[in-house]
Amino acid sequence: MVQITGGSKADEMIEQFRLRCKEVGLKVTPQRVAIYKALLESREHPSAESVYRTVSNVMPSVSLDTVNRTLLTLAELGVAFVVEGTGDVRRYDAILEDHQHFRCIKCKRILDFHCDEFDNIETPEFLKDKCTVLRSSVYFEGLCNDCQGKESK
Ligand SMILES: [Zn+2]
Ligand SMILES: [Zn+2]
Repeated sequence: MVQITGGSKADEMIEQFRLRCKEVGLKVTPQRVAIYKALLESREHPSAESVYRTVSNVMPSVSLDTVNRTLLTLAELGVAFVVEGTGDVRRYDAILEDHQHFRCIKCKRILDFHCDEFDNIETPEFLKDKCTVLRSSVYFEGLCNDCQGKESK
């Protein structure tokens, strides 16, 4: 797994998050910061439930509903995004540096990797005419080695 964001970088990102909130006139509440921090510090592309479990340890008053809504707000602010992939609960990522994902369809683990070639994917002409592409990504799906091992037994 690529280690994209280190410890000191996290503080910097939280500061940027505060600025971003102020920019759009959103209150920087302790809850919002705690939720963003939990997402930032998780290496697992957590679901809302998982972020909720982490945050409720330090902030028992927080509700799953608040976490759900806040994560969507983070995505709207552009400080996090929903990991691609279907048929599953939403998974979130606060790592904004270019990177790609592999998702194991069995254990649902999401691995980060980075391949330069996938960073700047040319938008096909067909789409250029019809829409404005804000984000594109390369996404792989399959079985991780652990699950593959279990399968073949
Ligand atoms: Zn797996
Ligand atoms: Zn990621």
